[in-house]
Order: sequence, then C-alpha cells, then structure tokens
Amino acid sequence: KHMRPEGAEAITISVANFKGGVTKTTTAVTLAQGLSLRGHKVLVIDTDPQGSMTTLFGLLPDVDVADEQTILGLCYGSEVSVDYAITPTYWSGIDIIPANLALYSAEFALPSRQKTEGSFEFWNVLNNGIDAARTKYDVIILDTSPSLSYLTINALLASDGLIMPLPPSTLDFTSSGQFWNLFNDLTANLVTNRGKSKSFDFVDVLLARVDANDASSSVVREWITAAYAGMVLPVEIPKTALTASASAEFGTVYDTDPASINARTYRRAYDAYERVVELVEEQINTAWKRQ
Ligand code: ADP
Ligand code: MG
Repeated sequence: KHMRPEGAEAITISVANFKGGVTKTTTAVTLAQGLSLRGHKVLVIDTDPQGSMTTLFGLLPDVDVADEQTILGLCYGSEVSVDYAITPTYWSGIDIIPANLALYSAEFALPSRQKTEGSFEFWNVLNNGIDAARTKYDVIILDTSPSLSYLTINALLASDGLIMPLPPSTLDFTSSGQFWNLFNDLTANLVTNRGKSKSFDFVDVLLARVDANDASSSVVREWITAAYAGMVLPVEIPKTALTASASAEFGTVYDTDPASINARTYRRAYDAYERVVELVEEQINTAWKRQ
C-alpha cells in the first residue's frame, strides 16, 4: 500500500495546459476522487477564476463562494497560509479551496507585489501559502486556467508533479507545443522558495478524450508519443458520452451510477481512469521516498 510515510509532506500536482477544453478539470477531479478512494487525504485547489472544479464539487462559484474562501487573500498578501480558505466537500476525504470570478483580480494583485517583494517571493506566493497544508494532506491537486497567467505560474512553482491532459487532435497538439516551450523556459528560469531552479518529480502527458472512431487521432497520437517521449502515460482516456455530460449531469466515473449509461462504455472509462490513478499513485510514492 502507498501511504504517506511519517513526516513526509503532501505531493502537490498541477493539472495544466494553456488550451481550454482539453479535460484539465475532469482529470483533476477524477484523480482527486480516485486517490481519496485509495485512502489518501486530498486537498483540491481551484486556481481557475471560472471555477469549473468548484462547480464539480457542488459549489456554485458566484453564489456559494465568498471571495475570502478563495486563494485571493493569499494573492493580496493578507494571509500567510491558506488554512483560512479550506472548505470541506460532499466527498468524504476531499477538501477544497474554491474559486470564483473575483480571482481574476489576482492577475493585477500579483504583479503589483513583484515591485515591493521581488520576483522570488512573488512567483512563490502559492508555493509558500500552501506550506501549512502540506503536512495535513497526502496529496494536493491544483486545477489551472487555460492561460499562462500569474496564477498558473504560481501553481506550477508550487507543484511536485505536472499532468498535461492532451486530446489527440491536430489543434490541441499544436498548441500543446507552445505550452511545452513556455513551460520549459519558465522552469529553467524560475527559482523556488527553496532557492533552487524549478524541477518536477514527474511530468505526465495524458492522452485524453481519445475517439476510437476518428482515424486522424491515431496519427496525432504518434506525433504526441514522439514529441513527449517517455512522458506519455501508458493509458488512454476514451471519449465517452459519460464524461462528455459529466460536468453537467453525472459527475465523474467515480460518482456516476453505472446503470445510467451503457455498461461497456462505463467500464472502459472507469478502467482507464483507475489505471491513471494507479500510475500517479506510484509516482507519488516514489516522490515521498525522495523527500
Ligand atoms: P478543461 O478544464 O481543460 O477546460 P474540461 O475538463 O472542462 O476541460 O473538459 C472539457 C469538456 O470535455 C467538458 O465538457 C467535459 O465534460 C468533456 N470531457 C472530458 N473528458 C471527456 C471524455 N473522456 N470523453 C468525452 N468528453 C469528455
Ligand atoms: Mg477547466
């Protein structure tokens, strides 16, 4: 069993890609639920002002979430730790720091702090802010917005692992290359709160929403495997009606009634996600050993 060793800290994982609609939020929520079902205590942090992850956990961003419940206070420098913002969810074993639209103003608040505090502190606002939570959880999962925002860079710098979901379509592949170049530039030049240039314990590319009936997807899949050699997880998330309507109706594979959809379809999606959770859990375990 992979359990957090005594004294070890939570492993923090960002789910990121500049492109919208590549299944970042679906991946983040499913991973959180899968890991919690395996006994891990999980904190999810929504860093996307659109609040999709918040919505999937049953909170309406602009109705149920007060600005003080988001990481906005942290971005303005009014709090030293994110403890104040942690909210329980309906899902036992998962807490959330939700988001709402007000979080957009972090894109103005953060750069103004750069002038007074310098870039070293400024890029690490989230990294430092979640320190208090790292000893209370096994895993912290950050959902990010589809842009190279100050929040997204802060999320990346706070993370031990990165998961980049990538559907095998030509457009998604092309824009993933931009993300990848910027990501490498950033990580080479940014310095963490521990005074080292940023490195990750693991970086995974997840083939997502793979359409078995789309002939072109197998070509793009080969490009992806070549471009991201060694980083592509050996599992594919199939495109299914289940996950397509997930955000609106069902929730993820873990909180869907299998009777509500085609059983074979359900099984395929469920098994694929279980495999992802298993693979990520192994990487988490390795990262703990390294701490
Ligand atoms: P992002 O956070 O990257 O914008 P989302 O997780 O919101 O992406 O997913 C984008 C859309 O794709 C959503 O409507 C979601 O329900 C759908 N989706 C996610 N995974 C699958 C899948 N395996 N098959 C079909 N549709 C999916
Ligand atoms: Mg999203």
